[in-house]
Amino acid sequence: MTENGSTYDLVIVGAGPAGLCAALYAGRGMLKAITIERGPPGGELLNTDLIEDYIGFESIKGWELARQFAEHAKKFGADIVTDTVERIRKAPDGLFDVVTARERVFRAPAVILTAGGTPVKLGVPGEKEYAGKGVSYCAVCDGAFFKGEVLAVVGGGDAAVEEADYLTRYASKVYIVHRRDQLRASKILQERAFANPKIEMVWNKRVLEIVGDSRTVKHLALEETTTGARSQLAVGGVFVFIGFKPNTGIVEGHVKHDAGGYFITDERMMTSIPGLFAAGDVRSQLTRQITTAVGDATTAAIAVEKYLAALRQDD
Ligand code: NAP
Repeated sequence: MTENGSTYDLVIVGAGPAGLCAALYAGRGMLKAITIERGPPGGELLNTDLIEDYIGFESIKGWELARQFAEHAKKFGADIVTDTVERIRKAPDGLFDVVTARERVFRAPAVILTAGGTPVKLGVPGEKEYAGKGVSYCAVCDGAFFKGEVLAVVGGGDAAVEEADYLTRYASKVYIVHRRDQLRASKILQERAFANPKIEMVWNKRVLEIVGDSRTVKHLALEETTTGARSQLAVGGVFVFIGFKPNTGIVEGHVKHDAGGYFITDERMMTSIPGLFAAGDVRSQLTRQITTAVGDATTAAIAVEKYLAALRQDD
């Protein structure tokens, strides 16, 4: 930190599963590391009700796994500060400046970016207007506000199908509105949704508008993707799960990325900027699971140790 003149070996940006796992390994590697997280540790785990696909934990609440991850990382010396990282840039002296909203600058020769992503928006009229008034991007956070309501979930991936199932605890009915006639979600989640009597699929429909009164959402204006036929779906709320956009914009300078903006890394998880590593949801890869996030983070933290050792040899 520049305030007291000290620098770190490693700055970890984000404290979701990837960030906490990187912090644990950095601690075990005796690196002087700091982890910066804007909210409570846990990342997407805190927006997930039940985790059933993290090996060794048959079924565990998202918040409970987050708590265990954070405790475990702290046991190995993880130092987690609450602040929002606004910029990461490589200075001419080769160190990264990690600049936060509270105007602190953390300096290190290596950074692991594990900042996750933000939900993709539909970009239709009504979405912004009714955000927090019937439009939501987090079932765990907002589901309980919709007791007895008819809801729509938009999307066809793991998140949409899993969260639709979760929402049936509160809602009287949940429509899954998908733009194709096939789900992208994993088979086990699909089967669970198809077996849930409160879930009804609305295939081949695009949302044109979210319509409501002065208070809340009343219906969705839909368009059939093949025929263009218009229809309305009466709902009291809509949950949008159409993917994530990686939080990679905080890095200054060009970093190799894929079409979705996810950072491309080598087998060490290093990006095209030497010393900048990426793990979890910010990284270009086939799937984004807790297991893949912690796998990335393990590789990245161990690679950082080797990277720093090589830098010292060059000096
Ligand atoms: P995703 O897998 O990218 O799925 C996004 C879904 O939204 C797709 O079905 C897509 O339709 C649809 N979509 C995209 N843009 C749209 C638009 N403008 N209008 C309407 N629909 C649109 O995203 P995700 O479900 O958020 O999952 C992200 C990653 O996290 C995935 O790798 C997923 O496996 C993982 N994840 C895993 C779990 C789990 O294993 N339990 C839970 C949550 C997330 P098309 O299918 O037509 O492209």
